[in-house]
Amino acid sequence: MTAQSRYRIAAALGALIAPLALVATTSAPADAGTSSHKHQIYEYKVEKYIRLAGVGTDTVGDSPTQTLSCDPGDIVLDGMWSIKNVDQYNPPPPDPDGPPTTTGGVYNDARDVYVVSSYPDQFDPRRWNFEFDNRAYGDAQVKLFLTCIRSFTEYTNSHRHDIKVRNVAPIQAFTAPHATYTDRYVYDRGAVCTADEMFVAPGFDLTGLADHRLVATYPTNSGRGWEWEFGASAPAAAPWFYGKCIERRVFDGATPRHSVGMKHMPSASFASGFTVSVPLGDQQESRYSCDQDDNSLHGYKAMVGWFWMGNHWDDSWYLGMEPRPKTRAYVFWNFNGTPAQAKIGTLCINSRTSFPLP
Ligand SMILES: [Zn+2]
Repeated sequence: MTAQSRYRIAAALGALIAPLALVATTSAPADAGTSSHKHQIYEYKVEKYIRLAGVGTDTVGDSPTQTLSCDPGDIVLDGMWSIKNVDQYNPPPPDPDGPPTTTGGVYNDARDVYVVSSYPDQFDPRRWNFEFDNRAYGDAQVKLFLTCIRSFTEYTNSHRHDIKVRNVAPIQAFTAPHATYTDRYVYDRGAVCTADEMFVAPGFDLTGLADHRLVATYPTNSGRGWEWEFGASAPAAAPWFYGKCIERRVFDGATPRHSVGMKHMPSASFASGFTVSVPLGDQQESRYSCDQDDNSLHGYKAMVGWFWMGNHWDDSWYLGMEPRPKTRAYVFWNFNGTPAQAKIGTLCINSRTSFPLP
């Protein structure tokens, strides 16, 4: 390289750097804490379709261990599944007269698809891990979903801010018998987030607990903690529980600059959730939207979903949920003659910052 060409490169770099430096020096006064400007916050979902081989003769399928990730640099706030269908079992020739002799599930439908684990990765903020166990004979069609948030706001007045989400230390703990329902076990994580944070990304790993199925997952302590409930026999092992805390403010370094509206709707208490009545028979989709009870929340997105199954929970199944921009849709399946009851709700997060700070 000649001296002349080296100079040209240096000059070109200088031309690139100069406008950036100008932006950096002018951004501080624009955000000195007196302006009422707002920033957009990018919230979105990611989805994936998988087909899980059953215990029948067709063993071709996707891996029962799955991961799904938000865009690079972003942060996952919730991970979920939705069991769409289990194929009818067609026995191979010769057609057995009696029940199939291989070890299969009890129902040979969506109820036989167990969720072994569903939790936020501890090393990669944008990644969620799943494991399934399809005990039906036929293949299971399952959709996986994440809700994601960009790790910084969009630019306003030539600057942007950091969105802060931290991992809660995972804990391995035995579930305790439910106070009211037999064959139901509970774990309460307690208020692990600060008053400036909300608990998000609730997850669990039930490895070693073959019969556990989720019957409730909901916020506690005004949204600073979380609780899970499983329909199960006495637990033989302690599950792992996971979560994160998201700051209700955006930052310049360590300095909070604007607040971010976050609210559990219709309530931060599961008992005051939106009541769902599930009739006997077909799978029923039930929805709750952030602004259906308060239209001032029209700009909020349903980022973390929760539910609690009550009457006839033992004859009903939760098949999963699906995120829509400001709505969470849940599917319950009731096998009891009387309507089953569930409560649903969602943590809604504003897609714009607010002013002033809380
Ligand atoms: Zn700002």
